[in-house]
Amino acid sequence: MYDFIVIGAGYGGLTAASLLAKSNKKVLVLESHYSIGGCAGFYKREGLLYDVGATTLSGFDYNGPLDRIEKELNFQLKKKRVDPGMVIHFKGKKILRYRNFNKWIDELNKHFPGINHEKIWKKIEKVSKLAWGLLSEVPLFPPAGIKDLFSFIGKNTGNYLALLPSLLMSFRSCLPKDASNNEDYINFLDEILMITAQEKSDKVPYLLAALGLNYPKDTFYSYGGITSMGHEIEKKIKEFKGDVKKRRKVFSIEKKESNIFSVKAEFNKKTEVYESKNIISNIPIWNFANICGGAFKNKMNIVSKKYSKSWGAMTYYFSVKFNKDLGSLYHQVHSNELKNFIQSESLFFSFSEKDDLSRSKNGFQTITVSTHISIDLFKEQDFYGDNKAKIKRFENIVLNTFKENFKKFEILEIGKGEVGTPATFEKYTNRFEGRVGGIPHILDYYPFSYPKNATPDPNIFLVGDTVFPGQGVVGVISGAFSVVYRILKNEKS
Ligand SMILES: Cc1cc2nc3c(=O)[nH]c(=O)nc-3n(C[C@H](O)[C@H](O)[C@H](O)COP(=O)(O)OP(=O)(O)OC[C@H]3O[C@@H](n4cnc5c(N)ncnc54)[C@H](O)[C@@H]3O)c2cc1C
Repeated sequence: MYDFIVIGAGYGGLTAASLLAKSNKKVLVLESHYSIGGCAGFYKREGLLYDVGATTLSGFDYNGPLDRIEKELNFQLKKKRVDPGMVIHFKGKKILRYRNFNKWIDELNKHFPGINHEKIWKKIEKVSKLAWGLLSEVPLFPPAGIKDLFSFIGKNTGNYLALLPSLLMSFRSCLPKDASNNEDYINFLDEILMITAQEKSDKVPYLLAALGLNYPKDTFYSYGGITSMGHEIEKKIKEFKGDVKKRRKVFSIEKKESNIFSVKAEFNKKTEVYESKNIISNIPIWNFANICGGAFKNKMNIVSKKYSKSWGAMTYYFSVKFNKDLGSLYHQVHSNELKNFIQSESLFFSFSEKDDLSRSKNGFQTITVSTHISIDLFKEQDFYGDNKAKIKRFENIVLNTFKENFKKFEILEIGKGEVGTPATFEKYTNRFEGRVGGIPHILDYYPFSYPKNATPDPNIFLVGDTVFPGQGVVGVISGAFSVVYRILKNEKS
């Protein structure tokens, strides 16, 4: 009998499990894959280790969630700040996202003259700092009921109330005319928002856009790959007497009359049954609705159908040997060819660090390339039916874009590559239809209707990128802190 069964060992589930195990709860994590990490997982090919999806870490600033988890669990991730945190290749320009405010403003003035960047970005900085403060000081945000609202009353209430309007207006509508009418500038900002907020500036609320635009300022590379921190957290779960069982795919959860949950998982084609007083789901809301039983299933179905917007990802994994050093490890490259093919406008190239010998060998660095694809378009174009021509076209676009934009580093050799599609993510992470990156941060779901971590059942909680604050390792770790705070607070009252 467990106090908590956590379904899924993505960053959301691992974080929640570790914090609960540290609070002396008896915790079991059930993970369907043979390794942890989910969308922030890894795979190995010919001695090289590739990140499958997520590649960058952020959130070590402002007492951010990643800084908090390191302190809370007492570990130090081997990592390296990457500055500039991102290089944007846009219409023949190379725009460097420096961490230093003045350097960044100079860079913007150089590439987009005639706009008061200093004023725009000072506000972005201020709002994103306040927003991170809100998430760490008022963990019951967004409120799941009237009771939660009382937790907002404190020394910073005035500051936080001042943030409310920024949840109601789109980022673009808050920009001065000289910026919002500059098509190139908007296009440039939109592509950054696509990878951090999953939508463009006319749809994303100002506050979420501020967080998203500031994300690349605080970029870290994790030695050993993006899953290294997950391995650290897994070790801590075990140290606190919790358990992580892999290759266990949960397919049913039933609440019995005794109020105890019976959880069924498939292992080696056999059914295992576990019992627990509480459930934490780290799988997307669409998946969770499918495995729940009874009246709760209907309730979860209503929630999951309400949030039908989500993206898929096309990825490409390969290795390269350069003669020269790259500078930044993260590059966003705008591509018209891609736009004409799958309507996505940029490719994100993430390189492994040359001195990270667990990932880079004989001078080869690994590269994970990713971009968005609409799930509907993916199905329509029949990539599913092993459409080799389409896969090949995507591969060619990636490689041509790569050769054109990185030739100045003197490419010596390019290793064999592999394409990933939404079907790949569905296969390895079970995510419904291969939907990744959570639910886009759009005005339709704000200020308070983004999916929350509490559910109609007081013993079932949700973590992961389909519940607030959603998207990214930093988002799901922040969400897990919030869930555990809620659980421990409920217990006391
Ligand atoms: C291409 C791509 C690039 C990205 N880039 C970045 C980036 O650079 N930085 C960043 O911070 N974020 C990035 N993200 C987003 C980030 O990876 C995710 O938002 C985050 O990792 C999600 O974590 P999670 O815990 O919510 O879910 P997941 O990572 O999806 O974890 C869920 C886990 O549950 C398991 N599972 C599923 N069903 C079952 C079941 N029935 N029983 C048991 N286990 C089950 C899965 O195997 C998985 O391990 C990217 C995502 C993608 C796809």
